Amino acid sequence: MYKIKKLLVANRGEISLRIMRTAKEMGIKTVAVYSEADRNSPHVKFADEAVCLGPPPSNQSYLLGDKIIEVSKAMGVDAIHPGYGFLSENAAFAKKVTEAGIIFVGPSPESIEVMGSKLAAKNAVLKYGIPMVPGTDHAISGIPAAKQKAKEVGYPILIKASAGGGGKGMRIVEDESEFEEQMNRAISEAQSAFGDGAVFIEKYITSPRHIEIQVLGDQQGDVVYLFERECSIQRRHQKVIEEAPSAVVAPEMRKAMGEAAVLVAKACNYYGAGTVEFIVDENLDFYFLEMNTRLQVEHPVTEMITGKDLVKEQILVAEGKPLSFKQEDLTINGHSLEIRVYAEDPRNNFLPDIGKLQTYIRPQGPGIRVDDGFEQGMDIPIYYDPMIAKLIVHDGSRDKAIQRMVRAIDDYQITGIETTLGFCRFVLEHQSFKSGDFDTKFVEKYFSPDKLDIQWKEEELILLAALAVDIFEKNKSSLKVSPDSQLTGSKTNWKNRLI
Ligand code: ADP
Repeated sequence: MYKIKKLLVANRGEISLRIMRTAKEMGIKTVAVYSEADRNSPHVKFADEAVCLGPPPSNQSYLLGDKIIEVSKAMGVDAIHPGYGFLSENAAFAKKVTEAGIIFVGPSPESIEVMGSKLAAKNAVLKYGIPMVPGTDHAISGIPAAKQKAKEVGYPILIKASAGGGGKGMRIVEDESEFEEQMNRAISEAQSAFGDGAVFIEKYITSPRHIEIQVLGDQQGDVVYLFERECSIQRRHQKVIEEAPSAVVAPEMRKAMGEAAVLVAKACNYYGAGTVEFIVDENLDFYFLEMNTRLQVEHPVTEMITGKDLVKEQILVAEGKPLSFKQEDLTINGHSLEIRVYAEDPRNNFLPDIGKLQTYIRPQGPGIRVDDGFEQGMDIPIYYDPMIAKLIVHDGSRDKAIQRMVRAIDDYQITGIETTLGFCRFVLEHQSFKSGDFDTKFVEKYFSPDKLDIQWKEEELILLAALAVDIFEKNKSSLKVSPDSQLTGSKTNWKNRLI
């Protein structure tokens, strides 16, 4: 069986570093690529060798597939891992890599192609009886027929671009009067944004949860599921907090979703690591949304509860090895949470807030993992996704994992830029999150910037109280309280004395 000797990671930052760490543990030499903006990045320093691809913009560096292949050939690289984003779901790139005689650490170009189109994906799984959101399973060709279908499905409906991704290319239509206008807009937007005007209709689920299943398949045709990840805490249809397992998924539901996900993977002869996304309604009925044919940002929570290194498994599968475990061998151990620490300002609509990491001190301790790609003093470049780090915790239960995450957030010291840390703390402490009763509307329902101020005031009060107790303890022998003073009175007195 083939053994990969030298792996090039066609990516940057935390994910590049995370992949290379595993490669090194497997005795594989690593090659990093970087743009001029990332010259001093930890992923460049960590690699055995590193190559500059070009100027900072992605289309002049990380998206230059042909150049990456050329570099790989020149350096004797025998495998390329694409990470997530950039070229990871580009079927043409995967094909060129394979044609150049290099292993692509990911699924076949055919699987990427089918699952890259939401409509082709729906069609591929049609015959397997996978539950799907009511709507059309083909591109809309004429307005009258589409309007009729929307009526049958029932408003509100969602118009989606077949080639859409990253939360973009979706329009909600509340009632029939806006249908035609919204449809025309959606088509022209899809055409200009994705170069493909194909759109389709889905029933708009008003109170949805986003729950996805991690799958892993080998080239021999075996596929297993590594349980679910709850990804309902989103802003702008993009995830910020993920956890495994989900607070609402019972064992039978887990089995049903897992088996459906395996069928989706089998429908496109999938191998490697992949994610089948489902939307779950208020009755906990689940519907297939799409499949992501790559390693996900949030994969660590699955690693924490299963004890499997997903990158290692990807590499072994890419080498042609059969999976070393069966479905029955997999169990869930404890609970894991991940928060995405973005350089964004939650007080200002989560707009990116780039700049210098003046202070950057990571939290430490048992059950804490930080996947990042920056060091103190570095700038967060404007050219890429503004994620600074992923903070991941693991503990025996959901409650304990939440407590551990709050502690870790409090120990994370970042100055120089605004981050989503305080926002994530707000979510974790919110009753609705704690009870598990939430959906993708959490942010719009419960969050406003002033909530961060309230939280701050509460923290200040706790600090003040702690300070007061401390001073009291140190001075109690010299302080006198009259035995008949009222409790409230005496408290006020203490405070007056202290100040
Ligand atoms: P993308 O490829 O852009 O990530 P998805 O189809 O995965 O698009 O959907 C992204 C998010 O949009 C989901 O997590 C969910 O919050 C919302 N969404 C998608 N489809 C529906 C639907 N039919 N009803 C309600 N919300 C939806």
